[in-house]
Amino acid sequence: MIELKHVSKSYAQGILALRDVTLSIGDGELVFLAGPSGAGKSTLLRLIAGLEKPTSGTVVMNGQRIDQLTASSLPYLRRKLGLILQGQGLLNDRSVLANVMLPMIVVGESVQEAEIRAYAALERLNMSDKAHTSPLALSGGEQQRVAIARAIVNRPQIILADEPTAYLDRDNAVIVVNALRAFQRSGVTCIISSHDEQFLDQANRVIYLNKGEVVDSWTSGQPATEM
Ligand code: ADP
Ligand code: ADP
Repeated sequence: MIELKHVSKSYAQGILALRDVTLSIGDGELVFLAGPSGAGKSTLLRLIAGLEKPTSGTVVMNGQRIDQLTASSLPYLRRKLGLILQGQGLLNDRSVLANVMLPMIVVGESVQEAEIRAYAALERLNMSDKAHTSPLALSGGEQQRVAIARAIVNRPQIILADEPTAYLDRDNAVIVVNALRAFQRSGVTCIISSHDEQFLDQANRVIYLNKGEVVDSWTSGQPATEM
């Protein structure tokens, strides 16, 4: 469970990126953060990921105050999260497999275990046949699927994806959204920002932001869990 209460975030230049946002997201939900460019979607994801702190308000994840985490406890939070963020592209100096192994190597897993899990993660994204390829040789949609494999290789409880379909054509965007949806079905909470409204009907929940405020929020489609 993720809960934000009265969260505001302002940046140095007097820009109010988020304004008094209160919301909660249940375990296993697939939530779309919708709204135009500049609405505050990325900022909201970075606050949930603990990458930035709110100017005021509280961010709680499974009972833990994310907005009060110290630098030393952040790595523990990070292990529960699969992050697919803007500007965190694949490393082109190594293979697809090595890219997906990296998060496991960073947390101290053996190379052997990392390789097994990275293959399994690539398998889930239908990308294992490209394991030994350079990221440079992949299409945009394939690169994004590898980025998802890298984000989920540590079996996160929560996936945060910032505009994962940006720059993709429709077919590739559908593949990427379906891949995230498959993880949600297996119990992972997914929070996906997008200004691309064609996917809204995939979501359990849509949170619509504009100018830093939640202007609309609705629940649709199948409930995440059977009642
Ligand atoms: P979205 O993801 O919906 O496009 P953002 O969260 O990126 O929106 O941005 C919300 C507002 O905050 C915008 O006005 C943007 O320019 C501003 N902003 C975002 N990050 C920073 C930053 N690091 N420094 C200053 N302003 C920022
Ligand atoms: P295995 O359990 O043998 O690793 P799976 O096909 O069940 O194979 O999973 C493939 C990979 O997908 C896992 O190794 C893991 O890295 C990743 N994964 C991440 N989150 C989940 C999840 N909730 N359920 C299953 N697999 C996940």
